[in-house]
Formats: sequence, C-alpha cells, structure tokens
Amino acid sequence: MRAQGILARTVPIAAHMRMFAVSPSLSRSNRVLSFGKVGGRSSIQKGVKSPKNLGWQGLRPISVPGIRIVEASRMDSLTFSRGSVPQAVLSAPAPKLGADPEVATKLGYEVISEQFLDEYNSTAILYRHQKTGAEVMSVSNSDENKVFGIVFRTPPKDSTGIPHILEHSVLCGSRKYPVKEPFVELLKGSLHTFLNAFTYPDRTCYPVASTNLKDFYNLIDVYLDAVFFPRCVNDVQTFQQEGWHYELNDPSEDITFKGVVFNEMKGVYSQPDNILGRASQQALFPDNTYGVDSGGDPTVIPDLTFEQFQEFHRKFYHPSNARLWFYGDDDPNERLKVISEYLDSFEPSSSAKESEVAVQKLFGEPKRIIEKYAAGEGSETGKKHMVAINWVLSDEPLDLETELALGFLDHLMLGTPAAPLRKALMESGLGESIVGGGIEDELRQPQFSIGLKGVAGEKTAEVEELVFKTLSRLVEEGFTAEAVEASINTIEFSLRENNTGSFPRGLSLMLRSMGKWLYGGDPFEPLRFAKPLEAFKERIAKEGVKGVFSPLIQRYILDNRHRVTIELQPDTEKGARDEAAEAEKLAKVKASMTPEDLAELARATEELRLKQETPDPPEALRVVPSLLLKDIPKEPISVPITVGQINGTTVLSHDIFTNDVLYTEVAFDMSTIKADLLPLMPLFCQSLLEMGTKDMDFVELSQLIGRKTGGISVFPFVSSVRGKEKPLSYLVIRGKAMASQTSDLFNLMRIILKEVQFNDKQRFKQFVSQRKSGMESRVVGGGHAVAATRMDGMLNIAGWVNEQMGGLSYLEFLRSLEKRVEEDWPAVSQSLEAIRTAVLGREGAVVNMTSDETILQRAEPHVSSFLDAFSKSTGDKTCTWNTRLSAVNEGLVIPTQVNYVGKAANLFDSGYKLDGSAYVINKYIGNTWLWERVRVSGGAYGGFCDFDTHSGVFSYLSYRDPNLLKTLDNYDGTVDFLKNLELDNDALTKAIIGTIGDVDSYQLPDAKGYSSMVRYLMGITEEERQQRREEILSTSVEDFRNFATNLEYVRDNGVVVAVASADDIAAANKAKPGFFEVKKVL
Ligand SMILES: [Zn+2]
Repeated sequence: MRAQGILARTVPIAAHMRMFAVSPSLSRSNRVLSFGKVGGRSSIQKGVKSPKNLGWQGLRPISVPGIRIVEASRMDSLTFSRGSVPQAVLSAPAPKLGADPEVATKLGYEVISEQFLDEYNSTAILYRHQKTGAEVMSVSNSDENKVFGIVFRTPPKDSTGIPHILEHSVLCGSRKYPVKEPFVELLKGSLHTFLNAFTYPDRTCYPVASTNLKDFYNLIDVYLDAVFFPRCVNDVQTFQQEGWHYELNDPSEDITFKGVVFNEMKGVYSQPDNILGRASQQALFPDNTYGVDSGGDPTVIPDLTFEQFQEFHRKFYHPSNARLWFYGDDDPNERLKVISEYLDSFEPSSSAKESEVAVQKLFGEPKRIIEKYAAGEGSETGKKHMVAINWVLSDEPLDLETELALGFLDHLMLGTPAAPLRKALMESGLGESIVGGGIEDELRQPQFSIGLKGVAGEKTAEVEELVFKTLSRLVEEGFTAEAVEASINTIEFSLRENNTGSFPRGLSLMLRSMGKWLYGGDPFEPLRFAKPLEAFKERIAKEGVKGVFSPLIQRYILDNRHRVTIELQPDTEKGARDEAAEAEKLAKVKASMTPEDLAELARATEELRLKQETPDPPEALRVVPSLLLKDIPKEPISVPITVGQINGTTVLSHDIFTNDVLYTEVAFDMSTIKADLLPLMPLFCQSLLEMGTKDMDFVELSQLIGRKTGGISVFPFVSSVRGKEKPLSYLVIRGKAMASQTSDLFNLMRIILKEVQFNDKQRFKQFVSQRKSGMESRVVGGGHAVAATRMDGMLNIAGWVNEQMGGLSYLEFLRSLEKRVEEDWPAVSQSLEAIRTAVLGREGAVVNMTSDETILQRAEPHVSSFLDAFSKSTGDKTCTWNTRLSAVNEGLVIPTQVNYVGKAANLFDSGYKLDGSAYVINKYIGNTWLWERVRVSGGAYGGFCDFDTHSGVFSYLSYRDPNLLKTLDNYDGTVDFLKNLELDNDALTKAIIGTIGDVDSYQLPDAKGYSSMVRYLMGITEEERQQRREEILSTSVEDFRNFATNLEYVRDNGVVVAVASADDIAAANKAKPGFFEVKKVL
C-alpha cells in the first residue's frame, strides 16, 4: 500500500510501503560518513541499484500474511537448510520482566495480556489505559536499539490528503515546544537511529528509535507533545505551508499553488507505477476508505479547508484512538509513567468507533478499468502500457493458518526469479518487468496483484491470459518439492535472522503487529511464528504440496470474482492537459478576486515567506531537549578485526556474536576490466546468479542456493580514495549461511563465479529490458540520484565508472544493448566471459568474514579450498579508465510535474584539505538553509547537500521541486548564509551531536563486518577515525564561516544537472540563454 512520510530521507521499508523507492540519503549521504560506518547499501548505491545488487541489505518486503517479515531482496534466492536456522535472535538470554504490576495499576493501566515471545526472547505486555481506552504494547528485551511509536487510525473520506498534511503539520511546533519545527531540531541534534512519520491509507504512525536512553526519552516527549498538542490546529500558516496555499508575489503575476505535501504528491502522481498502484487500490475498494487517497490527489488537495483539518485532528488524534508501542532494554515502569502524563489529560471519546475501517463487500463481477499516464512528448509509446490484475481475497478475517499458507504461496509463485509465475511472465516477452506486489495483507483485507509493464498496447489481453493460464497450470501441477523446501527455508531463515538492515528491529515488529492490532485483532499473533510454522510444515508433509496450495489458488484467485484489471496507457498529451487545467483553475480564482483581494493575497504570501525565513530565536530553540557533549562517547565505535592470510590472500575476520550465522564477502579486484565493458557489470552480476551452469539450469541453481544458504548476492563496488587518482574497484560476492552450512556456502559461491555459463540469450534479453525499464522508472522517481551520478561522472573517475554502471550513460547503453543482443549475441556473451577472465584472480582479492571466533576458525579450510579454485593472477594489469564526462550544464528532459535540481563541484580540485568539521557543516546546511529555502519556502519535498569526502565532490540536490533556477539561487546563497552565520553554543553543540549520531548509527553484525572491510580496503585507519571524530567534536563557528570559501568555489565553478520537464528547462534557457545543454531522456 502507499504510505507517505514526512522525510524523503529515512525510508521505512516495511511491507507495502511504496513511499520512496529511492531516498535521497540512501543514495548519497552514507558515503560521507564512511569513516564511521558504511552501510551495506551506501557503497553501491550510486552505481548499481537493482535489488539484486544490494545484497540482502537491499531490504524489500515479502509478505506472509499474519507473519510478515522484512526480507532481503525478493529477487534473490535466499534460503536455508531445514533444521538449521538461527534459533533465537537476541544475544542475551535474560530479558527484563514487564512493568511492576503495582506501578501499572497505580498509574491506571490494566493488563489485557502478557506473553513471553520465544521468537524474540522478549516479554510483551498489552495494557489498556483505563480512563481513555488507549492501548499500550510494552516489549522488553536486551535490544539497545529502543523503539517507541504512536499510531492513530486516520481513515479519510476524500482525497484531500488530510491525514498526510496533518502528519507533516503536527511536527511543526507544539505546546511544550513552541518552535517552528521541533522535528528538525531533533534531526539536527539527536542520536536517533530512526526518526520519521508516515501516513498509510488508514493510519498515521509516529515512530522514533535511539540506543541512548536519555535521547530516547527526549524523542518520545517531543513526539507525544506534537501529536496531542500541536500548534498547527490553531495556526493556518502551518496548514498553508505543509498543505496548500495560493501564492502570489505580485498582483500582476499569475497565482500558483504551493505546499510541501502538494508538491510531494505531484511527484508521486508523476510516476506511472504509483498511478497504477493507486488506481488498483481505489478500484478494488470503491465503498470504503481505501477508495480515496490518504496521501492527497494534487487536483483535490486545494479543496481542503482549515476547519476540516482542525476537526480531523480533534477527532482522531485522541488517546481513545491510539495504540502505543515500546520495545527495547529500557525500564518498563518508566514507559508507563511518561505516557500517563499525556493520556491522563484527556477524557474518553468515541473516536475509536468513528475510525473503524469498513469492510469492502466482494463484487459479483470482475471489472476492467483504463487509466492514462503522462508520457514524454514524441516518445515511442508502443511498448509503454502497463497491466495489473488485482483481487481482494476475502471480506472476512482469515484464520492464521490460511494467512500463513497464502504467504508461502506468494513466495512460491513470485518470490524468486525461478518462481513459476514470475518466470512465466518474464519469459513471455510480453513486457519488460513485473508490477503488482503479489499478496499484500497490511490493510484490513488481503489483496493479490500481479502484472507487467512495458507492454505493447495490443498485447495487454495476452498478459491477462497468461496469468490465468499459469495459475491454472499451478493448480494442476503444483510446485516441486525443491521449490517448496527452498521457500520454506527462505522465509524461516528471514523470520529467525530478523535482519532488518538499518531499519530498527523493534519498528519492524511494531508494523507487523499493527496489521492485526489496528483492526481489533490480536497484536501478539503476527509476532508468534514458531508454532504455526511447525504446524504448517507438518501439514505439507501430510497433505502434500498440491493438497495445500492448489485449493488456495483455486478458491482465492481463480474462482474469486472480486477482480479488477487495470490497463494504464501512455498519453503524450496528458501532461499538457493537466497543466492547462491547473492554470485555468488558477486563472478563474484570480478573475474572481477584487484588486483588494489580490493585494491581500500578495501581502499574505509575503507574510508567510517572512515567517518561514525568520529563524527561531536561540532561547526558544533551547526548550527542545538535547544531549550534552559530555553524553557523547569520545571514541568511534570499533569493530573487531583480525587481518590474516590464507594461500597468500588477505582474510579479514570479525569476531562478533551472530547467533550461529556466518556472513562473508569476497572482493575481487576489478580494475583490470576494459572501460567499454563496465556498463555490462550489473548484467554480468545478474547472469552469475540467474543463468545456470552446465549441470544445473538457473531454477535448480536458484533452489540450491535457497536450500543450502541464507542468500548470495554479487555486485560491483567502486569508490574514490582520497589522495589517489585511481579509484578503488571490486567485484563483491556476499553470502550468509548457518555455521553448519559453511562448506555449502563457499562451494556455491565458487560454482556461481566459475561455472555459470553465459549462453542463455533469451534470459539475458529479459535482464536487459527489465533493467532498462527499472532505470526509466528511476529517472522519474529518483531524478536527484540520476543528476548526482551524472555530476559525479563529470567530477571524478570513480563517479564516471558508477555513471557507466548506473547513470544516464548506463540507460543509453541498455537501449543499444537490446539491439546488440539480437544482432550479435556471441559477441555479448564473449564480453561477459572477458569480464570473468579479467576479474577472477586471487591476487588483490580480500575475503571478509563475520561471526564468532569458533565459527570463523572452522571456516578457514573452506576458504582455503575456495581460493584454490582461482588462479593467482589474471594477467593484464593495465587499467584503462582515466576518464570523466565533459563538465557541461545539462537539462535532462522527462515527463514530470516536479523537478530534481543538482549543482556540484570537486572541492579537492580547489585545494581543500579534509577536516572533520565538514561533516558537521554539511549536515547543518542541509537541515537549516536548504531545508528552509528549498523545502519550506520553495515548496520542494526535499533540499539537501552531500559531501563525498573520498572524491571531494560537494553537491546540492533537490527532490520533487517545483522550481529550477530559483533553487540554484538558493544553493548559491549558501555562501552568504555561512559567512553571516551567528551560531550560539547550543546550536553548535546540537549540530555536533547530530553528526556523531550519523557517524555512530546503529548497525547489525553483518553491516558492522562489511563496514570494517570497506574501511580496510579504503585505507581508513582507526587513527584517522579518531582524528576525524575529534575534529567533529571541536568544530567551531569559525570553521563554518571558513567553509564558505569552498562553497564559493561551488557557486562559481559548479556544474548543474537538472532532471526536469521540457517547459521548465526551456524557460530556464530563455531566462539564461544557452545555460543548459538539453537532452531528452524520456
Ligand atoms: Zn509527506
């Protein structure tokens, strides 16, 4: 389902949150902090971004009804061997008990239920606050990454986006914290490991997380005060800023619409995938709240009045309609005390009744709907159709066993490239890639959705036929025993490993629990998977695969008449039509106004801008709680590392408790690849995992990986190294398995690297069109990342390599490759072989392993025989990449209602020497000047900057931005902002603490080991990390002012890349003749 969040940067990746496919910071900022931590994603984000290449940290949801898990990329074949999955999740076996019963009673809570969750080694108590009826789940265990969340049911009646606008607005000042944006103060100066808010179709969630106890309770208090006592309900200007308003700078000009949510949703409505998802949901649920858009339809948002907004808050943001969640190692008594202060001040209300989500009764007849999306003018619209077939599976709650079975069915049909429904769709050649999320169960009623995009107009009916044909075949034939074993193992490994990447574990559990709790179900049920899973396995053993799954497909899908087929057609005139309609609407508004009205509107516009641009006084900001410098550890978080050798190859070992799982990476030097082969790298990696060997086809290989390991992935890693011309570049293979499967893991990694054959032309063709279609979506949905990659390609060699493997050049390459595969497949196949020959040598390779000491030692012989399979040297050592793209301002034209604007320069070219203060300054600019100018008053969803301390590239970027040249002026204005900056001690301390929070961000064991390896490869020593930390901690106001010189260099020498609409680029070139070289991308 579609959920919107206040921040474009922290992306909650829970099941069905299609919020931000690409988040600004995921693609960029982590890199900046690599002396501290390096996320599994960061290093490869810029270049290659398909789920395949993200390894298992590329979290995507798979959906197991009732038991929802956040798993690694569903495209990967992640599995384990039966009977050898991790048994418990947390290291310490003795969790604390729940709150003292006397304390709870005295505070006015009754216990509804108490359970010990073996699966998570946790005590969980569900309370009811007797006065208001608020429900509280208190989960206690030894996890230091503490999580709090408050969730309200907020079903909308129309598409004005009221819940979404409210979600943004309550974080703009409250009773106790009467500043413009306490939320931004927390972003600047707390140690949060998670901070965001998001709107679902029927609920609004406010979660925070931190490993620091004091910080954690600070965050909770700011959030509680925000939701219960926000200033926005008495302040129309916040509503205007976050929601919508008419903007008129001068009565002689045209009126425009402005507002953060308004523009955020314009961005969402520019993406065909989102349009398809929304159309599907609305058509499936015409009679309840899911029939409207909680995020807001930009054409409807301006119908929303301030009075409706106030009323919505009054009604739904009430303890009687609240569910609160605590998780972690903090004192359970304290939790109840803290929330009592808020809950007690309310009288009970009927809001819980009013917020109930009605059930959609099932249709008797299927429906067919045709929708349009705006395609680029003159673009080839032949294979641009999208088709999705959608079902609501039931109008009654399903029992746990059915839900569980449906979850497995989903994985069996679609969970891996070898899964039959996915495979049939991809191999049909009818479309470029799969759409529809399979089974989704996060809302009141479960749904199933599947289809293709990149389909020719006349082929849409065939897609539908193929889906039905394949499903019928599956009913007839069932699934193979190997496939079922692999699926069960995959899901069980994921559930038990509970590897949520950078997403807090406690939050993942909260979202899972909420899927039942929110609808009056049992909140414990989704957390208790062990017994149902065993029972399910027994049932399969008894009734057989066919006996279990065939009736499910028949009953819930094939025989189910509540079905909607959506065809989404490209329309090259829609963009212009929508724009004209908006202009006409605004012209009418203007025509209806008297000169006095217009003067008043111009005055109000100016007043709002002034308010937005006037900072809070320092004494006001002091009320937002913050830590002190003395609360901050003086040393960086260290990861144990032992550097050894096996057969002459460097082996890094990290002795960390991993609950019996071995995580490993092997990095091969790839600097010997010829430059013209670089764009093939992502496809080379995909072929290794998905093409099969002489003895095994890819389905068998995929299932074997599933049965024997916890998952294997392959991806390129390329980065600049400070002070060196030559970039660092590796081909990395990652894998994980239970300790007892170490031998299988290394054996499979060897087979993948050495034995896979590049001889399946048809499959390769699918990879190419799938990736091309993925890149095209990425340009529309994540244009800022495409702009950033492009600028990097102009400013350093590593950037150029990454642009070849994941930027606009890559897209151009894929487009021409489609033809080459057809015309000269042998040459393409030989190129893949040439990459293998160039990369796979022991010389320069590094093996990395993370697990506990005993497991690490036992793995050594397996590593040794793995390495024996590779020759020492790969021969030719000449690197031929010494290139950059030519640095010109580029306007990349796409069909869109919002722009992405970037400007960048390489500070090392100007002679700048890195100092830790740069991290603090970079973060500060993003959270103050750019936030205020580009987002708050500019109306963009995001505005930020990024400093890659390895390459020296400093870039400004905006996200879903209504402006273009004006945003560039704001970037350039950063110089004067810094020069004139007055920063008191409190603000400076906050900036420093916030930076340390980023550097020290929470990592699970596999991420720790991976980060440590990346630091080793990049030559970042512990001494350097300590030095940077000290520089951060001693950053002064002087440092800020001095940094202005660097930004002057960006202002005067920077290169600009904008991904924008044709009109906006033309307008920019009219205002500044010849400014952009124009390139039509879509
Ligand atoms: Zn939002």
